[in-house]
Amino acid sequence: ALATPVHKRILLKLSGEALMGEDAFGINRATIERIVEEIAEVTRLGVEVAVVIGGGNIFRGVAGGSAGMDRATADYMGMLATVMNALALADAMDKKGLTARVMSAIAIEQVVEPYVRPKALQYLEEGKVVVFAAGTGNPFFTTDTAAALRGAEIGAEVVLKATKVDGVYTADPQKDPAAQRYTRLSFDEAMARNLGIMDATAFALCRDQKLPVRVFSIVKHGALLRVVLGEDEGTLVYA
Ligand code: UDP
Repeated sequence: ALATPVHKRILLKLSGEALMGEDAFGINRATIERIVEEIAEVTRLGVEVAVVIGGGNIFRGVAGGSAGMDRATADYMGMLATVMNALALADAMDKKGLTARVMSAIAIEQVVEPYVRPKALQYLEEGKVVVFAAGTGNPFFTTDTAAALRGAEIGAEVVLKATKVDGVYTADPQKDPAAQRYTRLSFDEAMARNLGIMDATAFALCRDQKLPVRVFSIVKHGALLRVVLGEDEGTLVYA
């Protein structure tokens, strides 16, 4: 018998770096294929999956801005980078037998369809994986904020923030061997302890909307499935 998932609809936030694997930039083939296989595993359990993809493996607006570019222009470049990642991700999904739809917050209609909320909801109900590209469509924001925004819009039960670390720790586990992982903590505790979970805008949106965030490792094989099955994985941040 198939195991029973604890979530019906999830918003998975994948950073651009998640697609890099061990590479210094760009998209690592084996890594993207493994991530897609892990997404396929949870869809087979009947979980509806929406993804917000970052762009940091290709371009980060802050870096472009600090290098002398106009910040808003650099941010639009960053958003376009997320569109490239979204196309690669959807392509890899199609090859694994998933049906993916990319929806962009910026109109580039020859390339991807625009984000239309009812349509996204329809795709999810049909069991398609929706990949949200171009962040929020606005400069000065991040894809974490897009994840909070889209997560709230589609009524996701949780935002799953995929990182390189398997949760939120009392201290940096790289530097402090005594650092302990939180199994769960409230938004208020996270704020009081100054634990940088997401940027402030994303954090505030999730807290206001009482949209829980689970931070987990995308490097750790099978972690996404374990999260969806309600096993002790990562850290749950709740309202
Ligand atoms: N970006 C933006 N508005 C958004 C989302 C992203 O301007 O709503 C730009 C911003 O320049 C950012 C880049 O796109 O640096 C890539 O997104 P992000 O840094 O969030 O990607 P990740 O760190 O998740 O790979």
